[in-house]
Amino acid sequence: MKITKGKIAELLDQPGCEHNHKKESQKNKACKQQAQPGAAQGGCAFDGASIALVPITDAAHLVHGPIACAGNSWGSRGSLSSGPTTYKMGFTTDVSENDVIFGGEKKLYKAIVEVVKRYKPAAVFVYSTCVTALIGDDIDVVCEAVANKYKIPVIPVNSPGFVGSKNLGNRLGGEALLEYVVGTKEPEYTTPYDINLIGEYNVAGEMWGVLPLFERLGIRVLAKITGDARFAEVCQAHRAKLNVMICSKALINMAQKMKEKYNIPYIEESFYGIADMNRCLRNVAASLGDAQLQERVERLIADETAKLDIVLAPYRERLKGKKMVLYTGGVKSWSIISAAQDLGMEVVATSTKKSTEEDIARIKTLLGADGIMLEKGSAAEILKVVERTGADLLVAGGRNQYTALKAKIPFLDINQERHHPYAGYVGLVEMARELDEALHSPIWEQVRKPAPWDLAHHNPTLAHYIH
Ligand code: SF4
Repeated sequence: MKITKGKIAELLDQPGCEHNHKKESQKNKACKQQAQPGAAQGGCAFDGASIALVPITDAAHLVHGPIACAGNSWGSRGSLSSGPTTYKMGFTTDVSENDVIFGGEKKLYKAIVEVVKRYKPAAVFVYSTCVTALIGDDIDVVCEAVANKYKIPVIPVNSPGFVGSKNLGNRLGGEALLEYVVGTKEPEYTTPYDINLIGEYNVAGEMWGVLPLFERLGIRVLAKITGDARFAEVCQAHRAKLNVMICSKALINMAQKMKEKYNIPYIEESFYGIADMNRCLRNVAASLGDAQLQERVERLIADETAKLDIVLAPYRERLKGKKMVLYTGGVKSWSIISAAQDLGMEVVATSTKKSTEEDIARIKTLLGADGIMLEKGSAAEILKVVERTGADLLVAGGRNQYTALKAKIPFLDINQERHHPYAGYVGLVEMARELDEALHSPIWEQVRKPAPWDLAHHNPTLAHYIH
């Protein structure tokens, strides 16, 4: 798959995205613009493509570029596997000055062959990066040569960082799947209840909290794209009856194109919180159009809600009325609000970075008139909001952890580096436990006390020893 200006424009201008399904005059022009300096600050396109594809656990992921590109992204996301661990290996061609001068294609060919021979992966994904794209290495040709000789799928992923943001990289990863993977294998059998999960990466094992629910309902997840996925299942994703998009817009191009090419409808859902999880199950059943399935969903919801009421009761007691400032991105900026409200907490502010217009509309409804929406938040701004609102804790990504801890504010990590799964009904219990532990840790009482040396100035006996 070659990257052309037309391809990039097409990926940025997705008809399924509400920024762009309006009439030409109302379209969001910013979507079509070339990447501006700083666009890759939160992760480059290569980073985005690897986020979307690396969770395919039995494949090898080879980065064709300087070693820092692989180091930049490797291991930063906790996508877990229930089986193979090939995806955890960090493969890179580590191009040097010599390769920049003479070209890196031969080196890439040898590297793919070595990976194939030594690790026997189900497939190899080869990622281009800024340097190898700029020197003109043709990774498509090299991948094809190895694939033909060794009879193994070798997929070029043309996603050099300079083409744009992480979000665009997600879509480029999706394009690679559409072009080289989806539709290349037929499932052994199909059922009327086959669905694909798109954009769920099994961070901290979150998907494992949701899969048993589908199983109980008799819904088969044909392909997970791509959390804890096996290469073969993604190949047969074209036979599903419904695509369920989890991470909002990250892979919207996949859902849209599978609708056009394979006639698979798609819905957008969230797994966080009781209300959203219930809505997701109801919408899946309604989209599959089976009245009995809908009845089974209602029974499951009644059963799970009754159990949750008992398990969550002590947490709700302790969390009731606590105020939270939420600083995250995209779909989580509203789905976590809903989960927090299920626990009786109040979200007083949330961020709208990377949120779509639809996300913002949902945030407004959930937050109410007094809620604060943070467009961009530096550490200082977040702390100001915490102080102004009298918030009890900050729920944000790992990079804000020390902002909160230095200000002696309880903190919960909600982004991709987190170690606890919060999706589904079991995830909500986990989230309640984590919030409770963060808020009621005895450390806050200790660190908020004046330091002994400050107290010493008011105590003549101690002051004698200090001076
Ligand atoms: S692909 Fe480019 S922007 Fe991304 S990490 Fe490598 S050099 Fe940096």
